[in-house]
Amino acid sequence: MMKKVVKFGGSSLASAEQFRKVGAIIREDEGRRYVVPSAPGKRFDGDTKVTDMLYGCYRMAEQGRDFKEALRKIRERYQEIIDGLGLSLSLEQEFETIRKNFEEKAGEDYAASRGEYLNGIVMAEYLGYEFVDAAEVIAFDENGRLDGAKTDKMLGERMNQCDRAVVPGFYGAMPDGSVKTFSRGGSDITGSLVAKAVHADLYENWTDVSGFLMTDPRVVENPVTISTITYREMRELSYMGATVLHEDAIFPLRQEGIPINVRNTNRPQDPGTMIVESTCNKPKYTITGIGGKKGFASITIEKAMMNSEIGFGRKVLQVFEENGLSFEHTPSGIDTFTVYVHQAEFEEKEQQVIAGLHRAVQPDLIELESDLALIAVVGRGMRRTRGTAGRIFAALAHAHVNVKMIDQGSSELNIIIGVENRDFETAIRAIYDIFVVAQL
Ligand code: ASP
Repeated sequence: MMKKVVKFGGSSLASAEQFRKVGAIIREDEGRRYVVPSAPGKRFDGDTKVTDMLYGCYRMAEQGRDFKEALRKIRERYQEIIDGLGLSLSLEQEFETIRKNFEEKAGEDYAASRGEYLNGIVMAEYLGYEFVDAAEVIAFDENGRLDGAKTDKMLGERMNQCDRAVVPGFYGAMPDGSVKTFSRGGSDITGSLVAKAVHADLYENWTDVSGFLMTDPRVVENPVTISTITYREMRELSYMGATVLHEDAIFPLRQEGIPINVRNTNRPQDPGTMIVESTCNKPKYTITGIGGKKGFASITIEKAMMNSEIGFGRKVLQVFEENGLSFEHTPSGIDTFTVYVHQAEFEEKEQQVIAGLHRAVQPDLIELESDLALIAVVGRGMRRTRGTAGRIFAALAHAHVNVKMIDQGSSELNIIIGVENRDFETAIRAIYDIFVVAQL
């Protein structure tokens, strides 16, 4: 029998109705033995996630204000689920403990973690699975960083004793036993740690979208879903704005070569997206996806004979480093060197950087440009295909988009294109059309 770890996000567990869908999904496949739930998320637009309610409630407790009403509202969210599922479970004792701990100021992480903890108890009761508190099996070190080796051992041993279990996402414990959470969205990490520890065949990450879309649905209407994507491609796309999965969830799985399947709780019939280490599965389209971000600035430094000045690039970049700025790209010409940075970060330090550059390399001219966007066209299929760049730039020319910068990584996995902010959407649509719509 296959061994699968299934993680469900907040919107998949926001109500009794959502819990039922989840129950049906789990029961449908014997292999779905280890379940990692998030806290209940939003039931409708404008609703509040339980995690945010908990942060708010704890803030009140910390300020010495009366938080009873706020806590009661949180309890109501769970009661609604319990009643809707017809369970006889009572969380009274649990809420009493939480109230006391809030009064004793047990910490913000403890507070936030209760969302997953309680949802795990409800889920275990509903499924008839064993409940395993994440504080017993997910370990952080003194510095608050995940202790991967210790976690793997503890989780592995504990999971070995259970045929089927629910492990709440998002938190673990410090060496002194106090609760510590991952960053927001961190239940994905718990799921991946469980998958690694039990040597799962598959890690299913269930959310409210049918996988990774080829591009941002706010830019292109109804973009195609990516059926298979490699970890590296995903990293490129995530960096450029597309996020379905917490970044830190990837590392533990990559080490073990465990594939991730991103699925939609509301459309379980959709196959979703497979995220894999490598594949010989030929992508349907030459490109896998298009990502992008607005809000970049470029600093172009011109100096005659720059190309023969050894150390020029280093001196330029050092100025950025000294000002605490990370750079994105550095396209260069014979006598020009350009640095792309995040505009918001750069604006505060603009004058220091310019002064620093004058001191460091005595340029003939420094030219600044703002309101730029970067678009990443990503795809393992590009490596073996001639003419990809040609098609991209022909499409952009047709759409009257002026290309400011081009950077193709030597891995041939992506082509980065710099355009003006106002051309961003047009450019993405043009690229999508030429590779996807034209092929449909
Ligand atoms: N509930 C937490 C959050 O809202 C963690 C998660 O859902 O993954 O960020």
